[in-house]
Amino acid sequence: MKLTKDNYYSNEANRHYMSVSQFKNFTPAFGGCEARALAEVNGEYEQESSTAFDEGHYLHAWNEGILEEFKTSNPHLFSSQGKTKGQLKANFKHCNKMIEVLENDPLVMEALAGQKEVIMTSKLFGIDWKIMIDSYQPEIRVFTDLKAIKEMDGKWWNKEAQVYENFLDHYGYIIQMSVYAEVERLATGRGYEKWCVPHMVIVTKQDPPDHEIIAFDFDTIVQHLQIVSNHIERVKAVKTGKEKPNRCEKCEYCRQTKKIQRVKHFSEFSLY
Ligand SMILES: [Zn+2]
Repeated sequence: MKLTKDNYYSNEANRHYMSVSQFKNFTPAFGGCEARALAEVNGEYEQESSTAFDEGHYLHAWNEGILEEFKTSNPHLFSSQGKTKGQLKANFKHCNKMIEVLENDPLVMEALAGQKEVIMTSKLFGIDWKIMIDSYQPEIRVFTDLKAIKEMDGKWWNKEAQVYENFLDHYGYIIQMSVYAEVERLATGRGYEKWCVPHMVIVTKQDPPDHEIIAFDFDTIVQHLQIVSNHIERVKAVKTGKEKPNRCEKCEYCRQTKKIQRVKHFSEFSLY
């Protein structure tokens, strides 16, 4: 299957290819739910598009240089009634503020330079993967991913690993950068461990927004590819129907389709 920008996010593409977000969707350690992930891949369930999703698209349209077209083809970004009718909704006005922060920082613009939204595929752990690189500068062996998040502070409890994590671990960003590095290396045919240096440009939705450029080293890539390798066989087995998906019983999909199997003892409701 030939991937294009139009079919990259389609169910067909997701059935044919593994992606980092699909891998995370299938993996409870990254907040995934096997039952929901499988239903999504099979086209039986669709997560409702959230405001955060639209805001991410808005920012990426700016990075790609197509923000005006994006606004024209998405009238729901504009207020349709009251005094603000015809104006951008408040959260997208705030996105403009985030964009301004990025545009006014020369090092950010350097990190985000190069080819935009580059699609690549390659075989990894015995299956086909797809990636889309936000900004790609192969001549200096750098690629950069752009992310808008709530904030960079804070810690999250990882129930499986029983440890606190920062936002990079919690959202699986290090996994994402490692898989991107490896797929790019394989797709371009560079030698073993001759990766591009993965970078992230983070901008927060705070007012005023905070921002940061983060780089990852090669030892981290090796380590996180190993984490993917530890989980991938289970993901493959569930995706291809060889093994039955587990339900998390917490996500939207599980709550929608829940039937109680047994009465729980009160002590099962522990905090951690
Ligand atoms: Zn679930």
